Amino acid sequence: MAPKSAAVASTLSTIRVSRRGAQRVRAGHPWIYQSDVSAHGVAPGALVAVQDERGKPLGTALYSSSSQIAIRMISTGVVNDLPRLARKRVEDAVRYREKLVSNTDAYRVVFSEADFLPGLIVDRYNDILSFQVLTQAMDSEAIRSAILSTLTDQLRPAAIAERVDARVRELESLPARTSGLVQGEKGRTEFTMNGVRFLYDAVEGQKTGAFLDQRENYAAASAYAHGEALDVFCYQGGFALHLAGSCSGVTGVDSSRPALEVADQNAALNGREIEWIEANAFDLLKDYASGGRQYDTIVLDPPAFAKSKRNVETAVRGYKELNLRAMKMLRPGGTLVTCSCSYHVSEAEFLAMIGEAAADSRRQVRILEKRGQSKDHPVLATVPETAYLKCVIIDVSV
Ligand code: SAH
Repeated sequence: MAPKSAAVASTLSTIRVSRRGAQRVRAGHPWIYQSDVSAHGVAPGALVAVQDERGKPLGTALYSSSSQIAIRMISTGVVNDLPRLARKRVEDAVRYREKLVSNTDAYRVVFSEADFLPGLIVDRYNDILSFQVLTQAMDSEAIRSAILSTLTDQLRPAAIAERVDARVRELESLPARTSGLVQGEKGRTEFTMNGVRFLYDAVEGQKTGAFLDQRENYAAASAYAHGEALDVFCYQGGFALHLAGSCSGVTGVDSSRPALEVADQNAALNGREIEWIEANAFDLLKDYASGGRQYDTIVLDPPAFAKSKRNVETAVRGYKELNLRAMKMLRPGGTLVTCSCSYHVSEAEFLAMIGEAAADSRRQVRILEKRGQSKDHPVLATVPETAYLKCVIIDVSV
């Protein structure tokens, strides 16, 4: 006789995982790789019952026929009604933000695995929601409509926009879609973080939005920022606009002209004068450092240098070059805010890099705060991949 749970789950396809896969699941990790499963004839995006190598039930998962991550666990129990579970999880995610998010009408409402909805990202920009689907299971019509109706009931947005990541859809063998509004007609709005105003445009021209994961770090950085400030890799001005409140002058640097155009509009919206420079940050820092330029506050927030484990070493070299130059350019008593959003560079490696740069700079360097991503981007204790952002605030005394 089959055990009861297996009998209930028998309406689903069953996938058996290897010993190694089962160990991962028991340790609380939701991902099992293709090499650890045997899944013949399972439909793309199917809800599946998962068993260990001996046939013991491990729970229920979402299957992907084309991703390296073949299954993503969604429950250690039996799930028969996925749209119902998705509704409940979206509601829970909304409640979690109500408890933790303050000083903003822009935050991440759903963060994929960290909200037990693998492959779904939802951001709120005031009265417009933007969502992104990254897995086969989340793309089914039943799930999409369950998610959209729950978000509408919970948050009453003026509009909902889909943000398509064409590359991910291709990797997941999902049909192509175009970005744009899927509900409502309002494509543009304004949102506020820590009292600073920003433009949001979900549909037209240069896509706007924000690095919502840095929101709490903006507030932390502005508490230390002073004097003349340089925001390197400024994008649409997230740090720069926050620094403007406590600094005598702010310069933002980015290689993207469209990003700087939006940054300038954001500055105008806040009645701030900020100097924007379109340049390669590495070249500019080199020139400024050799020209003897000095600042009181420097922010470094580069894009992810390490896209995979293989280029961690090169990435760390890049970080070190930037951080060393910045440390040398700070006046005594200066503040450095240095970030990395590369998951593959661990916090320990990042701190070690900061130590090396500090030693080479011959400055007195002290760490004021070791920070991560805003709380609306939750970190799961059992899933190291959910912690990716490092933001270290440093004092350079002498
Ligand atoms: N600090 C920003 C986010 C930065 S995202 C915020 O809080 O909103 C990284 C930015 O680095 C992007 O805007 C990208 O255009 C820019 N960038 C990438 N490579 C660069 C380079 N070599 N020099 C200058 N900017 C670069």
